[in-house]
Amino acid sequence: MITISAITGISAGVVGACAYFAPQVLRVRDERALRQRCARSRSLVLSYDDGPGAELTPRLLDVLAGESARATFFLLGVRVAKNPELVDRIVEGGHEVGCHSQQHLNAWTTWPWKAVADIDAGYRTLSRWIFDDALFRPAYGKLSFATWLVVRRRGAAIGWWTIDSGDTHSVEPSPQQAIDQLKRDGGGVVLLHDFDRSPKRAAFVLQTTELLLRTAKREGLMVRRLGDVFADSGRCVAASRPPGTGVAR
Ligand SMILES: [Zn+2]
Repeated sequence: MITISAITGISAGVVGACAYFAPQVLRVRDERALRQRCARSRSLVLSYDDGPGAELTPRLLDVLAGESARATFFLLGVRVAKNPELVDRIVEGGHEVGCHSQQHLNAWTTWPWKAVADIDAGYRTLSRWIFDDALFRPAYGKLSFATWLVVRRRGAAIGWWTIDSGDTHSVEPSPQQAIDQLKRDGGGVVLLHDFDRSPKRAAFVLQTTELLLRTAKREGLMVRRLGDVFADSGRCVAASRPPGTGVAR
């Protein structure tokens, strides 16, 4: 016999599962739309998460400047607090800055209020450089209903990616894998990371960036910031504050 408590338990489980999986369904839809948008506009977006890294980010900025390419950086509050001058350099280079939370908490394994507070703290740390509705990329790519709602309330767009370079995989793939997918898709948003790890990982990020830029030139793709691609659809995405205009809060 099914008891009331069993039904209540099942209902709570279903509601709980929906709270975590519903935003993932939206993610699949948004990623598909982003892939199509990049292909239509022949765009390559280079996106870097979890930085800035004291060693890697300056080297990366030099590579990008050498090719007059602009990228999108999803910065982590705790690393921004350690290297604020690197955020100045990123913004001065014409790159776009988005929020990637303060401490990189996983919304699926953290209490909802803690995950929400982590996102708000990330935006507060970055408030000298970005507006309150700047692009957001969830840590680990994980959103719960609570974190999805708080990002939506800000009016911030979620900056997914369409091509994973594999630079955080336990076994690094060849950089060629990202190149092949970029060519196959006719454009895309590539996920890379610019926090400091081993010299081997740093070399992979720099080499993959150079190869992607070379491929874009050969294939006639435009290298753009993610906000510029969103702007194609009429969606207004808050740009990074111009250098020196931010108000610390
Ligand atoms: Zn991350």
